[in-house]
Amino acid sequence: MSSVQIREQAYIDGAWTTPSTQKTYQIVNPATGEVLANVADCSADDATLAVEAAHRAFGPWSKKTAKERSVILKKWFDLIMEHQAELARMMTMECGKPINESMGEVVYGASFVEWFAEEAKRVYGDIIPPPKGDRKVMAIKQPIGVSTAITPWNFPLAMITRKCAPALAAGCTAVVKPAEATPLTALALAELGAKAGLPKGVFNVVTASHGKDVGAVLTQHPLVKKVSFTGSTPVGKQLLKQAADTVKKSSMELGGNAPFIVFDDADIDAAISGAIASKYRNTGQTCVCVNRFLVQDGIYDQFAKALADRVSKMTIGNGLEESTEQGPLINQAAINKVTELVDDATSSGANVLTGGPRSDIGSLFYAPTVLTNVTDKMRVFNEEIFGPVAPLFRFKTEEDAIRMANDTPFGLAAYFYTQDMGRIWRVAESLEYGMVGINEGIISTEVAPFGGVKESGLGREGSKYGIDEYVEIKYLCLGGLD
Ligand code: NAP
Repeated sequence: MSSVQIREQAYIDGAWTTPSTQKTYQIVNPATGEVLANVADCSADDATLAVEAAHRAFGPWSKKTAKERSVILKKWFDLIMEHQAELARMMTMECGKPINESMGEVVYGASFVEWFAEEAKRVYGDIIPPPKGDRKVMAIKQPIGVSTAITPWNFPLAMITRKCAPALAAGCTAVVKPAEATPLTALALAELGAKAGLPKGVFNVVTASHGKDVGAVLTQHPLVKKVSFTGSTPVGKQLLKQAADTVKKSSMELGGNAPFIVFDDADIDAAISGAIASKYRNTGQTCVCVNRFLVQDGIYDQFAKALADRVSKMTIGNGLEESTEQGPLINQAAINKVTELVDDATSSGANVLTGGPRSDIGSLFYAPTVLTNVTDKMRVFNEEIFGPVAPLFRFKTEEDAIRMANDTPFGLAAYFYTQDMGRIWRVAESLEYGMVGINEGIISTEVAPFGGVKESGLGREGSKYGIDEYVEIKYLCLGGLD
């Protein structure tokens, strides 16, 4: 088996491509500061070439049978899994994610390719009972065309496959702009896609140090028919506005402010395990990471102590070391934000049970932290922390918990722990969130619809619904049949 190389050029129209500007930018390991590569710094012109290539490729790719596309996607899945360890290492080096989690992300990311290789064959239409006897009424589904994906650094592989696998399965072609910090995994994915037999132009990767120019093309070019973005809510709003001028179909997977409610009747051990998994995964840098722990009065102190005990024992370090549970944050801006939010809380009366900055290991490390005595007047109640800090809010009644949980413009993931069956249904139905974990802290899977409500986004990824984002429904009325 040949190994996956570090690629530095963009991948456009089936070729490794030097950008028109000849410029490159550095990719830096956040754990060590080491320069890993100098990657193509593409311009709007390069993005335009990629969109045009994807447009040329769309006709032949969409005309392949679903089974033919499925076979190629399945091969892509097999190659990703064959290279799991190499891809995970590359991912850890570019984004700092602990290696065991990177191994997991490769499996998770690959699962969308496998799932949609299967779904490709199930894009069914409808034959509808007609209102008049002389006609037949049908609805068929057709691939929408060139789709673009703008993705974040925190899941360098899975956020690409969650968009591009359904796109390619449906018969669309794709142009990806990976995050500035994490292009290497995306380029490796392109290499494996080519080996799997994706024809030229079907899957393109345009890397750039400044998302804006390339992003403008990917959201505004008339040949682009679908925009899919995962990232922060402010950027998502901007991209939606850009896509509005040409009325492009858009999917937005944006930021969250996940509540994790622990009721007095919860199984505390299960709640602690769920809390650790959900809060500290990827060092607190996922969109579905818990942002606010809402803990009922009767067990608040017990929960806080048990959580702090577990958190204080977590191993912090370079993600490449097997024992590491918490890696670095992605950059200095992330450290600054976490520090500001913790300072804001402590200056208004919050207590640090465990944690704080760890500059002795490296400038981008922040120890997993637990804060108590936190109130809804502090910034951590409203802002996405995106770091390893668990603020514990206190509540008295079920109504209070629901009100506090919903008191945010975001609505991505929520979690709650209780053993009362009536409460399970009441709370699950009252939470204004796209996804709810009930006595469970890890909920992402390719088989379930992932997505948010309110300002957390539009559309769903994964599951049987994910492919709908890449097709248009066309109504056919066949008349004159008397
Ligand atoms: P981000 O700053 O919004 O960036 C996401 C992507 O958008 C990157 O590729 C970025 O490129 C690009 N971008 C930024 N400004 C742009 C512009 N003006 N035009 C076009 N593209 C632009 O988010 P991030 O810091 O990478 O990721 C963290 C955020 O993503 C958090 O809010 C998290 O909750 C959210 N997220 C959501 C989900 C979900 O499924 N809902 C999943 C993961 C993450 P550059 O890297 O070059 O700036």
